[in-house]
Amino acid sequence: MVKEWNPWRGSERYSVATPQAQASNYAQDEARLSAVVVWINETFFDLSLPACAVRVGQMEGCYGALYVSSSPPVIYVPPHMLAIERRELVAMMLHEVLHHWQHCAGTITAGLMHNEEFLNQMRALGLNPICDGDQVGQTIIRGGRFDRAFKQLRLS
Ligand SMILES: [Zn+2]
Repeated sequence: MVKEWNPWRGSERYSVATPQAQASNYAQDEARLSAVVVWINETFFDLSLPACAVRVGQMEGCYGALYVSSSPPVIYVPPHMLAIERRELVAMMLHEVLHHWQHCAGTITAGLMHNEEFLNQMRALGLNPICDGDQVGQTIIRGGRFDRAFKQLRLS
């Protein structure tokens, strides 16, 4: 069982109903993370991005979250990531949505997941890239756009 994740009290606006018939052990987490993606789309992209699904599940050979530009596009979140601090989790979702943005509106580079445009966009939105080759994580820039916006999400 995955660690219980507290409800997003105080942010009803972003709540998404859990489909009753969804055949996933993580339906509630997927609904919450989908609401986070909508919040990111609204907060950082003026709702300009096409919808992007969220699935909780392990992708083979992948430790972290993964954006796949399928139709529809999907962000895969491995179950162990549900246990990290929520602020870090939402920052990670912003990183994945940035991949979505780059596929839709930016310039991708073959063979390089995190090109200079991607890293610059991370910084512009308040994430400091931590690079290990083409593996990129992030820290949250204090007082940056993400840091300020996250405080408005009013999580309990
Ligand atoms: Zn990435």
